[in-house]
Amino acid sequence: MSSMRTLTVLGATGSIGTSTLDLVRRNPEGWRVVALTAHSSAIELARLAREFGAEIAVVADEACLPALRDALAGSGIEAAGGPAALVEAAARGAQVTVAAIVGCAGLAPTMAAIEQGGVIALANKEALVSAGDVMMAAVERHGATLLPVDSEHNAIFQCLCGNDPEHVRWITLTASGGPFRDWSWERLVAATPAEAVRHPNWDMGAKISVDSATMFNKGLELIEAYHLFPVGLDHLRIIVHPQSVVHSMVEYRDGSTLAQLGPSDMRVPIASALAWPGRMDTPCAPLDLAAIGELTFRSPDEVRFPATRLAREAAQSGGAVPAVLNAANEIAVAAFLGGQIGFTRIAAQVEDVLSSYAPPPPDCLSDVLEVDGEARARARLLVTST
Ligand code: NAD
Ligand code: MG
Repeated sequence: MSSMRTLTVLGATGSIGTSTLDLVRRNPEGWRVVALTAHSSAIELARLAREFGAEIAVVADEACLPALRDALAGSGIEAAGGPAALVEAAARGAQVTVAAIVGCAGLAPTMAAIEQGGVIALANKEALVSAGDVMMAAVERHGATLLPVDSEHNAIFQCLCGNDPEHVRWITLTASGGPFRDWSWERLVAATPAEAVRHPNWDMGAKISVDSATMFNKGLELIEAYHLFPVGLDHLRIIVHPQSVVHSMVEYRDGSTLAQLGPSDMRVPIASALAWPGRMDTPCAPLDLAAIGELTFRSPDEVRFPATRLAREAAQSGGAVPAVLNAANEIAVAAFLGGQIGFTRIAAQVEDVLSSYAPPPPDCLSDVLEVDGEARARARLLVTST
């Protein structure tokens, strides 16, 4: 990269955050870090803020602010805490913001970054799923550049480059199928959190690992793709590809299919977004197709994994429905990880919340947050009554 750019990482201590900072560490001349944020891991955040010479470090959980202050004492780095401080840090106008908070908790800071009109490298799919049109309108209004980091969407973005979406016949999202792709329903009913977070191909945070096991991850990604790529829901489909080598593909009207391939390492799509429209080095091993040997594909099974059907229906309904789906899923995943509900209850509970709550389409961020809050409250009631 030619000149230095300013960078903020929202969710710096997570899986995407640390992969991002690993790339920055290898190219220190390229970046000046403005803000790094975390939920509650103050010590780890302070360590990163010192290492990268951040201007400010923010913990979303205000109770962790004293620990952050202590850990940053004498460094000259500002420390702040709470959701408003998170938004304020995101609004400092870094040229590039990596949105890597998990869940709808990342929506308000991501919107604050969008309002500054810079580059947003988006990993936080729940934010786009929940805010949908509201977020895309803000991107347009503020002249921001939204670059997808999610590996499938980054792949599609690369395959669309230089082509008119008018000529697209299909966008095909690939899915690994998760750790349970070959499990019977009886086994799924008894699946444990430890089994669900053990993903065969990717090393990720707990929430997205469970989403991958239920296929809600692919459902959320379908809604994400619907907003990012204007080809219409009827031109989006999902295929299970257990090896996670083909990250997604675009088929054009002439019968040409372009695919993006790469190792299952998020540093590849993150690097693609950080260097866009250029390219940068990554430490990832080159793709060795001869060693991989076989790439296989099959149709998803929506009987064992209803999540993609629920997501497609939510995208079809539009408005607030995807926000309800996302919020209900976040609560159900947390309840599953906490041992309160079984694995197959996750999708069942999301479907129950969707059928009991149909708010009007949101017009602005606060409408989305209101829908999110109400859907969470309803989902929590289902957990306690199970
Ligand atoms: P993670 O759990 O490893 O990290 C989440 C980060 O967000 C941490 O820094 C955490 O401190 C912070 N955070 C958590 N709750 C918060 C809250 N309430 N308020 C503020 N900050 C909070 O998650 P991850 O796997 O890095 O995923 C991050 C996002 O990227 C998710 O939306 C996920 O779907 C998406 N994504 C991740 C991967 C992956 O390989 N990990 C791939 C594609 C997309
Ligand atoms: Mg993905």
